Amino acid sequence: MDVEIKQFKKLLRKNEHYVTKARLRLFIALQKTPALSIKDLVKRLPKHDRSTIYRNITAFEKLGIIARLQMGWNSKVELSDMFQHHHHHFTCHRCGQVMNLPENSALENEIAKLASSQNCKQTDHQLEIRGWCKNCLAD
Ligand SMILES: [Zn+2]
Ligand SMILES: [Zn+2]
Repeated sequence: MDVEIKQFKKLLRKNEHYVTKARLRLFIALQKTPALSIKDLVKRLPKHDRSTIYRNITAFEKLGIIARLQMGWNSKVELSDMFQHHHHHFTCHRCGQVMNLPENSALENEIAKLASSQNCKQTDHQLEIRGWCKNCLAD
């Protein structure tokens, strides 16, 4: 079995949540996609009741399984760093595509340094670059 799925089930049980089919399918749907809007996520789970999906998203967010990215007036969700490698995002203004950017340890160090220069200790961060993607630039 997938290591992440094992870890996911363990986390649910530890927090007294049952491992239901709906929760498992939601997790697997998130594993297969970069950040997406909740509306698009619901579309990928046509067999499940919309309110169940919303409830599970809220529960996943509380448990730290899902991270929410604020993008302008709407938000997108993806699996948190607990379940995938830490990364930053590029969002295209024109087509709305969200890309995961390659890891950059020099940048990570600088961000940690920036926090400690203010006598703070970071627990996590999000970074989003906005602009036009390659496809939109070529149009
Ligand atoms: Zn684009
Ligand atoms: Zn980072």
